[in-house]
Amino acid sequence: MTYLILGIDAATWDVVKPNLEELPYFNKLIDICEIKNLEISEAPLSPLIWTGMFSGTYYEEHNHKEFVEDNEIVSRDDLDFSFIWDELDEKMDVRALNVPFIVPTYSYNVDYEPVGFGLPTDEEEWKEELEKISDKTKEILKEEPDLVISVFTLLDRVQHFHWGEDKVLEWYKKLDKKLGELLFDSGFLEKKENKLIIVSDHGFCGFDEAEVQTLPKEGSERELKGDHSREAILLTKNINGEIENPQDIYKVIKKEIN
Ligand SMILES: [Zn+2]
Repeated sequence: MTYLILGIDAATWDVVKPNLEELPYFNKLIDICEIKNLEISEAPLSPLIWTGMFSGTYYEEHNHKEFVEDNEIVSRDDLDFSFIWDELDEKMDVRALNVPFIVPTYSYNVDYEPVGFGLPTDEEEWKEELEKISDKTKEILKEEPDLVISVFTLLDRVQHFHWGEDKVLEWYKKLDKKLGELLFDSGFLEKKENKLIIVSDHGFCGFDEAEVQTLPKEGSERELKGDHSREAILLTKNINGEIENPQDIYKVIKKEIN
């Protein structure tokens, strides 16, 4: 049995649901998974939410919300708490790939060099990340570890710069194709005992509609068109336990896999 958590930073139902005809694998996943709007009650900041999801704690406890604090890049060593991979590693084969709670993004028991420091910014880097994460995840899944956490970050950047443009759907379609390769063509979903969670850390909306501006409008290298909303996506297959907030993902994994 492999327990796979596929993170898609910033994926939103607002793009997926109206475009299912052009997103055949999302469409299939919606058929076979339980789906949900995951309402984010904490500030929808990527480092804060991914940290909560994989440490099981809230901001008051983990105190980590930004990639950069006081002009210093926060590193893993600055964070004085454990993540699920630290806790399960002794008992089982655990891998984490490209988790964006820090930059460069974090990997555990996986040899991986993040694209663009984990913040890919242009078409070339988005394509490279898409290919590299898919290939690496496929390679890892072949070894059938107990727990695999793998995160795509590109949609966050695509949407910051192109929200409202056709380009956004274009990148969802490219990602959709990779979901097909990873989950269907690989045979992963054919194994009935395998468990799957697909989740985002927040959704997206127009820059001026956003409650929090996560990137400064002034001084950005390009015009910002979108920012984070509180509506994240959640799809689960073969998972027992209720997921109401990101911290529940930690709890559900621990309960099911221990
Ligand atoms: Zn994010």
